[in-house]
Amino acid sequence: MMLSPRLSHGAHQALRCQQRAFSSTLLRPAEAQAAEVKTLGVVGAGQMGLGISLVAARTAGVPVTLVDSNQASLDKGLKFADTLLAKDVSKSRISQDDADKARSFLRPTTRMEDLDRVDMVIEAVPEILSLKTSIFSQLAQICPAHTVLATNTSSLSITTLAASTTKDPKDMSASSRVLSTHFMNPVPIQKGVEIISALQTSPGTLATALEFCRRMGKVPSTSADTPGFLANRILMPYINEAIICLESGIGDRDSIDAIMKNGTNVPMGPLQLADFIGLDTCLSIMKVLHEGLGDSKYRPAVRLRSMVEAGWLGKKSGRGFYEY
Ligand code: NAD
Repeated sequence: MMLSPRLSHGAHQALRCQQRAFSSTLLRPAEAQAAEVKTLGVVGAGQMGLGISLVAARTAGVPVTLVDSNQASLDKGLKFADTLLAKDVSKSRISQDDADKARSFLRPTTRMEDLDRVDMVIEAVPEILSLKTSIFSQLAQICPAHTVLATNTSSLSITTLAASTTKDPKDMSASSRVLSTHFMNPVPIQKGVEIISALQTSPGTLATALEFCRRMGKVPSTSADTPGFLANRILMPYINEAIICLESGIGDRDSIDAIMKNGTNVPMGPLQLADFIGLDTCLSIMKVLHEGLGDSKYRPAVRLRSMVEAGWLGKKSGRGFYEY
């Protein structure tokens, strides 16, 4: 990681200390022994939680205890799982027997207490810090002492979530089992998953998570617990810069998207991609980068802020840089 010339000397020193801590965390995993995940728990049956559960059941072949506080979300998620499995069968991607087996592995419940036997849990509830810390402190109480406790957060500090498992920071019996498995949307399609260690994460926890993601057919990358991690640290400034180019009149919408699409072989240009992600999501991640890293180069584009103020959030609201 390059140090920015815009940071003060003190900030440089703090960053160097963090980097030393992070690199020791990141260099440990290869030597550690992975434990086998035989049963998975997922908390939150929304867009991400359902996708993670389905891929774990279908590709890794493990039973999944799927917890959601809202029965309607569970019903909707399982209906969607049925649709996706039927599509897999109709396209001959899997047999009817395998689809039935995967479906039987999905075990919905509204009770967190049903996670008392799982080897790994992946939390995928909404991006609200107080909600996630409350879930992690419950998981530390409910799950067995070996369970890996993972989060799918897009931007929150993994170290803070790990710390919420205990009142005594010296007691790392639960916090050392916390890390992030940041799956990409839509989970059944995107191969990449970002594995982020907290300061407290043990090498064994990291090794187990890496191994399980590979069993799910994913290609994991590791990154340190810093704002935006890797994927959003790289992707969001790219999108933000495209919006700044638009507002500065350097190019119009179609020129910006066309040059990136045709010039870098990506499936869509940055403005269309922003519409698909949601402009409110893009803005909130840019704010996390700007506040967390304190560098003006992450300032959200004025046009991005004003489009969110107008309620033009992209595809989901029917209007963004394009109309839907
Ligand atoms: P979502 O709103 O679709 O689903 C969240 C689910 O959590 C809902 O079904 C809700 O009923 C449930 N829930 C709420 N409170 C709960 C509780 N106390 N206990 C159990 N269940 C509870 O959200 P999502 O888009 O699936 O996002 C989940 C997480 O994944 C967030 O942290 C988000 O930042 C992250 N993420 C999202 C995307 C994306 O593109 N959607 C991509 C990567 C990461």
